[in-house]
Amino acid sequence: MVKQCTRCILPETFPGIKFDEKAICNYCNKFEELWGEWIRSEKLKAKSRKELLKIFDWAKAKKRKYDALVPISGGKDSSYALHLCKEVYGLNVLAFTNNNGFHTDYAKENVNKIVKKLGVDHVYYAEPLMVDLARHFFISTGHFCAPCELGTFNANYMIAEKYDILLIIYGSSSKTDAGFPKELNPWNPWYFKKVLKKSELSRQLGSTFFGQNYLLRSPIDRLTGKRKFILVPNYLEWNEEIIMKFLKSEYGLLFHGEHSDCMFSEVAAYLQKKRNSSVDATAMKYSLLIRNGLMDRETAIRLLGISNNKPPEVLGRFLEKLELTLQEFEEASRLSPAPYLRGIPYVFNRVRRIIRKQY
Ligand SMILES: [Zn+2]
Repeated sequence: MVKQCTRCILPETFPGIKFDEKAICNYCNKFEELWGEWIRSEKLKAKSRKELLKIFDWAKAKKRKYDALVPISGGKDSSYALHLCKEVYGLNVLAFTNNNGFHTDYAKENVNKIVKKLGVDHVYYAEPLMVDLARHFFISTGHFCAPCELGTFNANYMIAEKYDILLIIYGSSSKTDAGFPKELNPWNPWYFKKVLKKSELSRQLGSTFFGQNYLLRSPIDRLTGKRKFILVPNYLEWNEEIIMKFLKSEYGLLFHGEHSDCMFSEVAAYLQKKRNSSVDATAMKYSLLIRNGLMDRETAIRLLGISNNKPPEVLGRFLEKLELTLQEFEEASRLSPAPYLRGIPYVFNRVRRIIRKQY
């Protein structure tokens, strides 16, 4: 039988997992170290709320046209962040949506609904090379999310600069979003360059937002105090069940699954599970909810059941969009980003993980 963490539900086959003497995994222990006390302490939560207000006051005092940029995907977390900024904290915000090439119709509809009802300015942007990049990354590394991750980060930064916005507000954080260890889903610029080295695409990218190293400029701006970035869930309680119900009743938003803003999130989940020891995004999310005290372990096990990993229905559409045969898909699914991760990309990932409180 496969050994499993006694706190969450991650098995011993999960990448990078280690167990302590109580058979609790390193991911649970790291979470406890970062957030355990905060979750149990009203005093710490009140302190965080104050800190958040201080940052918002700082932004307002700058007296720019917009106090903050809020990137929104149409998913629950970014939508809620936008609601909070505008309605609760009274910030004058610019909402921004970066289409990764795979933006779902209902995510687009969510974006339109909330932007309209809140009456905030909104910019929509689509990088024309996105699908080609996804294809190249998939057939080189077996993963296709990196261009979207880096692209979205870059696009947010680019828009913030363009509109002279000093605060960027994200609705995601490692406290509330379950990600695979970064080594399995890398997206830093050096890794990016290595993967694209011999590709025709690297030449075309020079004229897009990928041409500038925003990921490196952002920590410099942060250190010099020029521009701030915050992950709102790090400052507030973030109960997704309540958030979804609220967004539905208040704005009429609809959500389909955990990552409903991407057309091919199910393909990514299928690949993850196929490759990584039968753990998919749902099992990781449940583990995170358990650590947050928002789900108990028995419920997680019952909800997951004996899940087998079948190719999702959207796979056909994925193959069509990326112009791949099933055989090419199968071959790519056996690849790994590891050969592109040696040297600087490795060091960068380690440093970033500490700064962003990732684990
Ligand atoms: Zn655990």
